Amino acid sequence: MTFNLNNIVRPNIKALTAYSSARDDFKGSAEVFLDANENPFPTAYNRYPGSDITNLQSNLADLKAIETDQLLLANGSDESIDLIIRAFCEPVINSILCFSPTYSMYKIWAEINAVAVKEVPLLPDFEWTAALALKNIEPTTRLIFVCSPNNPTGNTVALSEIETLCKQFQGLVVVDEAYIDFSEKPSTLKLLKTCPNLIVIQTLSKAWGLAGIRIGLTMASSEIISILNKIKPPYNISISNAKAALKRLENKEDFKNEVTIILNEKGRLAQQLNSLKTVEKVYKSDANFLLVRFIDSFKIFNYLKTQSIIVRDRSKEQGCQNCLRISVGTPQENINLMNALKKFEL
Ligand SMILES: *Cc1c(COP(=O)(O)O)cnc(C)c1O
Repeated sequence: MTFNLNNIVRPNIKALTAYSSARDDFKGSAEVFLDANENPFPTAYNRYPGSDITNLQSNLADLKAIETDQLLLANGSDESIDLIIRAFCEPVINSILCFSPTYSMYKIWAEINAVAVKEVPLLPDFEWTAALALKNIEPTTRLIFVCSPNNPTGNTVALSEIETLCKQFQGLVVVDEAYIDFSEKPSTLKLLKTCPNLIVIQTLSKAWGLAGIRIGLTMASSEIISILNKIKPPYNISISNAKAALKRLENKEDFKNEVTIILNEKGRLAQQLNSLKTVEKVYKSDANFLLVRFIDSFKIFNYLKTQSIIVRDRSKEQGCQNCLRISVGTPQENINLMNALKKFEL
């Protein structure tokens, strides 16, 4: 089966002439800008975003070892998910496939866009295989969302399985790697060259410590990226956010040190949690959180609240009865958590 991008772009998007901003049209250097109806008096932000965005774009493309035309920056990866669904899924007619439990925004964005969602339970121990996806593809399926490492379970999908799925599916496979910087396993980006129907999503919100500036990375073939570019709001990244990202990217040592500390803390936390009588199971995690099955998660959740500690209740998710998702905090925050839980045991 050969993948043909042309067959899965919505006809109205294919026909669309994208908005061309003043800054898109003009790429040289000049001194007088009378092209965008801006206020000429400098406020630091009186101009529409331009060079800061292209700097960030090339910076991140270098970091990910891809071409700049294979990268689209979005206002958080949440915006990427919406753009992908809107470009490739005809409302009411097409559908997406995702696996539960997982990140809820694939389903929510699909529903907002009137695109049907087929949710398939993950295999025991939250395993995912290409066969599970292939068995559940329908004629209407345009997109398959795979989260790896998966939120809230923390496990990673094997690259060989993603590759198998890409080869046998005529729609697009979207792999959400929000937590990849915490993982020792390789990124799916490796497959971009050989899989023309693969989209990889990453974000600066988690390991990079920039959740507040809303920058998501969408990476795919330049053909896919140019389609998404057509429907992206013209200035979706602000100058101040781009500058904050560039500043953080200058100092990769801080980033690396923080990730190392978080991973050490995760190991310690997992060990300590496992020794508690209230804990039934701590799932293995390649991310910066642990999915923990308690004997009674409801009691623990409410008790932790009284101790001013908030964790994420995932007990209503598929296969997650009595489970809480606990983010790894600073060493002191983790001590506070463990002290509180030990006190509960008494
Ligand atoms: C946190 C998270 C995101 C959100 O990323 P933003 O870039 O902040 O929008 C995306 N996917 C998964 C799986 C996440 O856990």
